[in-house]
Amino acid sequence: MSHTPTGKILIFTAPSGAGKTTVVRHLLKHFPQLGFSVSATTRPPRPGETDGIDYHFLEPEDFTTRIANGEFVEYEEVYPGRFYGTLYSEVERIWALDKTIVFDIEVKGATNLKKFYPENSLAVFVAPPSKEILFERLRKRSTEDEASLKARFDRSAEELGYANNFDRILVNDVLKTTLDEAEVLTANFLGNRK
Ligand code: ADP
Ligand code: 5GP
Repeated sequence: MSHTPTGKILIFTAPSGAGKTTVVRHLLKHFPQLGFSVSATTRPPRPGETDGIDYHFLEPEDFTTRIANGEFVEYEEVYPGRFYGTLYSEVERIWALDKTIVFDIEVKGATNLKKFYPENSLAVFVAPPSKEILFERLRKRSTEDEASLKARFDRSAEELGYANNFDRILVNDVLKTTLDEAEVLTANFLGNRK
């Protein structure tokens, strides 16, 4: 099967808690030209998350089979025992709708996507104002148990070091300003559409 790109991709990446999901959800409401890439994951759903909308929640065996079948554009074991990945079927589904794909993805997956789709892609690193504020946001979100919080904090120092690998850095301090800036850069990116 050929996997030739037929559309554009817009990537938002950041350490957990920086605000990329908040930014992506906002943009999806404002730009009907965007389609969200629903990742596959082996982590369990959080309250309020829906299978097929927030993620494709898969059993670990199913995820492993799909890796073996070459169904992923990229995948990572983001936290010990927790896999996340982008399915070719998602990418093709969204391009078939003639939409630009928007990704909410951690830094290694984002780096791989950028390598895989160097043309017609924009990768934005959402940076927290400080590490302390990042941790505070993650705690206040109240979605993680202590073990999961620790795994996320442990990973964030390395993730913050990836900031300069991407096309843009969007510092998420005052939310309204961040969302306005995200709208501008998205409008510019979509405006270039051929
Ligand atoms: P990520 O997807 O990067 O893990 P989220 O979008 O879930 O991050 O944001 C983490 C938490 O911080 C959420 O509870 C969100 O409502 C909150 N948040 C996001 N941006 C800001 C901001 N600029 N100021 C204060 N809180 C924020
Ligand atoms: P969460 O468990 O908070 O939803 O996601 C944890 C991390 O995995 C986040 O940084 C999120 O962006 C990232 N992630 C979500 N989907 C994918 C994916 O398809 N591939 C990769 N590599 N990371 C993903």
